[in-house]
Amino acid sequence: MGFRTDQIHAGVSPDPVTGGILTPIHQSTTFVQESVDGYMDRGYSYSRAGNPTVRALEEKLTVLESGHDTTAYGSGMAATVAVFLGLLRAGDHVVIGRVVYGGTYRFADQFLRKFGVDVDFVNASDLEAVDAAIRPETKLVFTETPANPTLDLTDLAAVSELTRKHDILHVTDNTFLTPYFQKPFELGANVIVHSTTKYLDGHNATLGGAVVVDSAELQESIAFARISAGLVMSPMVAWLTLQGIKTLSERMDRQSANALAIAEWLEGHPKVEKVGYPGLPSHPQHALANRQATGFGAMAWFEVAGGTEAGKKLMDSVPLWSLAENLGQVESIITHPVTMTHAAVPPEERKAAGITDGLVRLSVGMEDVEDLIAALEEGLEKV
Ligand SMILES: *Cc1c(COP(=O)(O)O)cnc(C)c1O
Repeated sequence: MGFRTDQIHAGVSPDPVTGGILTPIHQSTTFVQESVDGYMDRGYSYSRAGNPTVRALEEKLTVLESGHDTTAYGSGMAATVAVFLGLLRAGDHVVIGRVVYGGTYRFADQFLRKFGVDVDFVNASDLEAVDAAIRPETKLVFTETPANPTLDLTDLAAVSELTRKHDILHVTDNTFLTPYFQKPFELGANVIVHSTTKYLDGHNATLGGAVVVDSAELQESIAFARISAGLVMSPMVAWLTLQGIKTLSERMDRQSANALAIAEWLEGHPKVEKVGYPGLPSHPQHALANRQATGFGAMAWFEVAGGTEAGKKLMDSVPLWSLAENLGQVESIITHPVTMTHAAVPPEERKAAGITDGLVRLSVGMEDVEDLIAALEEGLEKV
């Protein structure tokens, strides 16, 4: 079936008891068994091991990503942590893209190292750097594209080719483009991580995560980490996310059209020094963006003339845009990564990654684009 059909119908069917068209919220901790010998005959025992509402979301995501299976989590970070817990042991080494979600950087830097896993952060846009960082103990390469917040791209097919050559795994965070715009398994990745908090839910209503895998073996290791660590998603969150996903394609189309219009407008603005958006021909990896994804997404950044002070003034005075962390929602959000989302990344790492003090990040929502532009203009007039 097509994506628009799958986002509505995959993984769900009317409730067999009542005919209710929406998957019920199975808000139950435990599941009564028919008999000792028939334990698990109906598939569920205790909600840390599995829950029917959560399972419906997992089945939908498996179809949308064309994967083998999925596990869902209480947050995107819980999903990333489950991948590390399930696949790594002390003595292993991992290669992680230098520009990744701030929480991913922090967990790898503070906790993987604490438990004896060696970590190298490399520029994942530079294939030679990735290849050079791989050693005999390397278990996986972790990428995120477009990266947060610089929107640097990683060539997923090329990194997958490298990991396959070295017989290791390629894990990629597909939060920014979602399977509607980017299909990492078709490009050779083995594991896909999502913060469902972002575009998949899209309504600022939940925190959630998911890991989609391409094999039964990977599913077993990662699901075992989830049940052991208790990193589960709640049924209510799964239910809200199931509703959000039904309009994913329409939201992604509208939000990225808005983002392109805003990026083009910013690029022509005299008070704006630099704009980053993969859909602009001025983006250094515009050709790659066209090649590996079917859309450019709804994240953009810019630098205002006048540096950090001007950027802060703009963010404090722009109407309509919410000054907040989070992204991928129907509401437009403006963020200062250095003081907000990426405060945990040390200044020298930030500098190396291109996250400058004056960078303003935009998560473009679904409002009328004329209103979003007028609001930015009002903010820019004040700086
Ligand atoms: C937000 C985000 C995460 C973490 O997700 P949470 O749901 O906030 O835990 C991971 N990766 C990316 C790309 C994100 O944007």
